[in-house]
Amino acid sequence: MRVLLTNDDGIFAEGLRALADCFHQVTETYIVAPDHEQSATGHAITMHRPLRAEPVKMPLTPDIPAWYVNGTPADCVKLAVESLLPDKPDLVVSGINRGANLGTDVLYSGTVSAAIEAVILGIPAIAVSLTEPEEPYYDYAAEFICRLAGVLWQRGINSDMLLNINVPACHPGEIRGVAVTRLGVRQYRNAFESRKDPRGRTYYWLAGELIDTEDGDDTDVSAVKSCKISVTPIHYDLTNYGLIEDLQNWDIKP
Ligand code: MN
Repeated sequence: MRVLLTNDDGIFAEGLRALADCFHQVTETYIVAPDHEQSATGHAITMHRPLRAEPVKMPLTPDIPAWYVNGTPADCVKLAVESLLPDKPDLVVSGINRGANLGTDVLYSGTVSAAIEAVILGIPAIAVSLTEPEEPYYDYAAEFICRLAGVLWQRGINSDMLLNINVPACHPGEIRGVAVTRLGVRQYRNAFESRKDPRGRTYYWLAGELIDTEDGDDTDVSAVKSCKISVTPIHYDLTNYGLIEDLQNWDIKP
């Protein structure tokens, strides 16, 4: 199995290091990641300036062919598949992100968008995030993903398989299992903080506190709250199928 790793926290992110440590021991591995943090850049791609890919030796795994790119996570996957790698990868793993990517937040996520880009290119992908704890257990999460990739590979993976995985901020000994979930909802209160700059002009900074929404116990949000690893199969097809027939019946005229 040929695996491409990427990470929206940048080429030297701890979560990428953990995945590289694990994957390079078991399979052919490549790394293409942004040259600096690109969290919350969503599915942006770079069109109005040139992209550069610089080969780099990863500190702990210098044998892995790796490049950093002055672009977004989606750029990295596109460039890796179309120009940098000798052959198409069999699986793309994006992560391990520093912080959760749950519910509606996946729409902003660079981590998830890199995985979506892979599936658009016909390659199955896993996005993996670690709910930010004081002491992040990246190696535990990486070993879980490595094992899971092996199981998926043996069972046979469809090219449109896209899994969004969140590992809870619980001690590995306290993880209570794996839940297959649906996306929940994430909403924030007081999203913008308004401040004054030194010249007295107002500026805004996006932050906000998370609102606890009760959205059923089958969601990704609920799973990580109960110390379970959440596995959500997702898809980039945003069509609202339920509305197609209604709209057709409206007989909208040109
Ligand atoms: Mn990130």
